[in-house]
Amino acid sequence: MDPSLPGLAGTTVVVTGAARGQGLAQALHLARSGVSVIAADLASAGPEALDHPGIAYHRLDVSADDDWQRLAEQLGKQLHGRPLRGLVHNAGITHRARLGHVAHEDWQRVLDVNLTGPLLGTQSLTPLMGPGSSIVCIGSSAALMGHYPVAYTASKWGLRGLVHAAATELGPRGIRVNAVHPGFIETEMTASAPAAMRDAQLELTPLERFGEPDDVADVVAFLLSDSSAYVTGAEIPVDGGFASSSGAKLISDRIAGRRPSVAAPGDIL
Ligand code: NAD
Repeated sequence: MDPSLPGLAGTTVVVTGAARGQGLAQALHLARSGVSVIAADLASAGPEALDHPGIAYHRLDVSADDDWQRLAEQLGKQLHGRPLRGLVHNAGITHRARLGHVAHEDWQRVLDVNLTGPLLGTQSLTPLMGPGSSIVCIGSSAALMGHYPVAYTASKWGLRGLVHAAATELGPRGIRVNAVHPGFIETEMTASAPAAMRDAQLELTPLERFGEPDDVADVVAFLLSDSSAYVTGAEIPVDGGFASSSGAKLISDRIAGRRPSVAAPGDIL
C-alpha cells in the first residue's frame, strides 16, 4: 500500500485505454497501491496487464453506449453497494490532418472517442459513485493551444468544457472531476509523430526531455486519492513546462545562441 495515496487502497477504479501506453502505466501504478483496477480497452491487453494482480481487463469501446451500460451492470453486481472510487478517461486517438484536409468521418471518429466517450462513461458510471469519488480526464497540451491536428485539438478543448461542467454538476454529490494535460509522452501514439514535431517539441520544452507514462500516472493517482480532496475543476499540465512557456523558451534560446534540440542533456546551462 502507498501511504502517499490516502483513500485508494481497497477501492475500485476504471481506467480506459489501459491496454498499453499511459493507461497501462496508470493501471499498474494504482494496482501496486492496492486498488482493484478495471482496465477497459477496445484492444486486447498484453501480459503486463493480464497477469498483474489487481488488474482485470474489460473489453470496451468508449464511444459505444451499450459497452458502458454493460460495464455499469457488471460493476453494480461486483461492488455490492460499495461506491466506485474512480474513473480515468484516458482512451484517446489522434489524427494528424490539418484544417484544410480533415475528412468529416475522421473528425467525427476523433470526437466520438476523445469527447463523446468521456461523456457516455461519466453518464453511465456516476450512478455508482459517491462522496470521495474522483474522475480524471486525460486532455493534452493540445487543449491549451492551437495544435495543427485540428480534430484532435478540438476534441481535447471540448473535453475541458466537459470537465468544468461535470465538476459543477457533480460537486454537490462529493464527486470531483479534474483534467491532466500531458505534453509529449513516449507511447505508441507519439511513435508515429513526424521527426520535425519531435524536434520542435523538445526545443520548446523547458525541462528538455519527453515525458514518460509514469510522469502522468503519478499525477492521476494524486487526483484520485484523498490528497486532492478539495481539488475539483482543475487542469494540471504534465508537460515539462511546454504550455507554460508558450514558445518563450525558443526566444530565450535564440537570444542566448543555444540550440537545445541538438545539444546533449546537461550541455545547455
Ligand atoms: P496510445 O495510443 O499508446 O494508447 C491509447 C489507448 O487507447 C490504446 O490502448 C487504445 O487501444 C485505446 N483506445 C483507443 N480507442 C479506444 C476506444 N474507442 N475505446 C477504448 N479504448 C480505446 O496513446 P497514449 O499516449 O497512451 O494516450 C493516452 C491518452 O493521453 C490519450 O487520451 C491521448 O490523447 C492523451 N495524450 C497523449 C499524449 C502523448 O504524447 N502520448 C499527449 C497528450 C495527450
